[in-house]
Amino acid sequence: MTTVDTASAAYLDASLPVDERVADLLGRMTLPEKVGQMMQFDAREELEHIVLARHAGSILHTSPEKVLRAAELTSQTRLQIPLLVAEDCIHGHSFWEGATIFPTQLGMAASWDADLIEGVAKATAAEVAATGIHWTFSPVLCIARDLRWGRVGETFGEDPFLIGELASAMVRGYQGDGLDDPDAILATAKHFAGYSETQGGRDASEADISRRKLRSWFLPPFERVAREGCRTFMLGYQTTDGVPITVNDWLLSDVLRGEWGYTGTLITDWDNVGRMVWEQKVQPDYASAAAAAVKAGNDMVMTTPGFYAGALEAVERGMLAEADIDQAVSRILSLKFRFGLFENPRLPDRERIATVIAQGAHADLNLEVARRSLVLLRNDGTLPLAPTTRRIAVVGPLADDAQTQLGDWAGSSGQVDWMPDGHPRAQITTVLDGLRELSGGTVEHARGAGILDLTDDPAGVFPDGQPRPPIVAPQEPDASEIAEAVALAERSDVVVAVVGDRIELVGEGRSTATLDLIGGQRALLDALAATGTPLVVVLMASKPLILPESVRAASVVWVANPGMQGGRAIAELLLGEIEPAGRLPISFARHAGQQPTYYNQIRGQHGDRYADLTQQPAFAFGDGLTYTTVEYGDAEVLTPVVSAGDTVRARITLRNTGERPAHEIVQVYVRDTVTSVSWADKELKTYRHVDLAAGASATVEIDLPASDCTIVDAAGRRIVEPGEFELLIGPSSRDEVLRAVSFEIR
Ligand code: BGC
Repeated sequence: MTTVDTASAAYLDASLPVDERVADLLGRMTLPEKVGQMMQFDAREELEHIVLARHAGSILHTSPEKVLRAAELTSQTRLQIPLLVAEDCIHGHSFWEGATIFPTQLGMAASWDADLIEGVAKATAAEVAATGIHWTFSPVLCIARDLRWGRVGETFGEDPFLIGELASAMVRGYQGDGLDDPDAILATAKHFAGYSETQGGRDASEADISRRKLRSWFLPPFERVAREGCRTFMLGYQTTDGVPITVNDWLLSDVLRGEWGYTGTLITDWDNVGRMVWEQKVQPDYASAAAAAVKAGNDMVMTTPGFYAGALEAVERGMLAEADIDQAVSRILSLKFRFGLFENPRLPDRERIATVIAQGAHADLNLEVARRSLVLLRNDGTLPLAPTTRRIAVVGPLADDAQTQLGDWAGSSGQVDWMPDGHPRAQITTVLDGLRELSGGTVEHARGAGILDLTDDPAGVFPDGQPRPPIVAPQEPDASEIAEAVALAERSDVVVAVVGDRIELVGEGRSTATLDLIGGQRALLDALAATGTPLVVVLMASKPLILPESVRAASVVWVANPGMQGGRAIAELLLGEIEPAGRLPISFARHAGQQPTYYNQIRGQHGDRYADLTQQPAFAFGDGLTYTTVEYGDAEVLTPVVSAGDTVRARITLRNTGERPAHEIVQVYVRDTVTSVSWADKELKTYRHVDLAAGASATVEIDLPASDCTIVDAAGRRIVEPGEFELLIGPSSRDEVLRAVSFEIR
């Protein structure tokens, strides 16, 4: 191996413009080195092979020790091109033992608070950057559509506008002050685009979705972060109209790089290139798949070891020009130069690790986000618990399950092998811990029910050798466990039942056929409800689940996986130390057969119900109660007629008519009364957070650019169609609580 003369190599001269450095380095690289530079490898495989024999450009899933080892190996290579080190740090530094683990994206979304989420991303970036990781595969901009999908909890919910607001904040937080910022990391907008439009909730199935539909709801959040400078985009797994996203020229070249002028880096999802061969069977071999992926404009190919030989063969067979590879490699090198990696490979920094990871300020922020992620869905008056409550029964399989509380993509959730026991128990406060710590009374615990057992899938491993998720068998209700919980309930003043789902029912390849609580949980709730002791159900569920009829009168709090401080936040809420502030970023079904239940559906169907069930969701997008009552006055529009370039101005007065403070989220929807093509009946356009002391009033001013009142026409163009509109203002997406006023766009 000839090493490079570091004194004279232009690409190592930091004073030269990036383009010159890229051209110089590219000119020195062999074809195998270029192909390797396009590849991201799973660092759990043998590092020597990845770095020395395959010339890897990037690695992911790197244990703390391996980050250093990989850098050492890179320094032995001919050109010493630094690696980009990536990880899925999607709600905190997921797989760094003892890092701050925040609520999942869906949990954070319930805060509807972009500033708070920007803070979470900033804190995460600081923890991640200190450990030598440069790039996070976050945020997820998929729109949750079918609640059976296993990845609903990774999303910001069902509304494109809210997703855009929160995703934009998260990208800002990660990317900080730019590529020179030592505490910043690269963000990834994923999974571009339409991955969530599953069939029957099945993960990565064909997304039956038109270009117009993509432009209407799926693309807007991506367009926003593309234009705002999100450094990388990850492509979804699915095919659309027969074409895998990985080779979807229209989406990648015409829309993303063309219309939106995106100049960032594109990475495939896990083995997308291989999947075209062995799973989707739309490419005959790896040479063809590699050629198609490079020509479509992919820069980095995640975990397709066969891409190496495939791309080399494609060039040899004349299916791919080296110039096409050069384009992708140039973009990767340019990112590495601009990120300063050649001068400073941003290796783990012991001192920063010791001070930054899980620092007090991050724990405080985590507690605040957890508080804001709680949604009070129903209250029979039991909440907040009266100060006279002496005996609290805390039951349910999730009352004291620390790792489940963290959710997917954290510790022992299954993606990495170096944290089998998850995050340190001492850092996590469960609901049981929280109530024990904060309530002045007696807190007793009974599990009451199990959830599931696992068996190996007899189908064995997937064709690519990856393990199949085990098969879930719901546990039968256990009469003695239930009896113990009932006895406890009967001698208590209140029962707090913490029920929901577990990691085995959540995530990739783990969609569910039902949305019910499984195992002994329903029988447990039935038995607890029958005791007559006031009942509070804490539904700790990664995604909306359905509660049994028996608890229809009980108080209900929904909390997605709320992170390390979740139990404390829940205890504070139940005890009335804080006010409920979260609102649903996603609608809850009454029955899995109602899917989909998202609020912004297209107008027009015969009737509005099933013969055997209403189509109304159990809880709608935007729902969430307070511990007080807030009355909305009539909305007033100050600009009844505007032109498309104007701003629609309106106001509404709110009054807190109860005895406790309210954190209200005033939601503003627009209804376009007649459209040239079918369209959603209403869409969220903006919202305001308003704090109201008991008895206080506030007038909220709304400014909405008329140019936001768009539809996508039959030709796929986003336009404002002049005519009559309604502004709908209120505390939820439900028509019955929205105050409507008309305006006209001329
Ligand atoms: C997931 C991505 C993730 C990647 C790397 C894939 O299976 O779909 O969301 O970023 O793995 O872990």
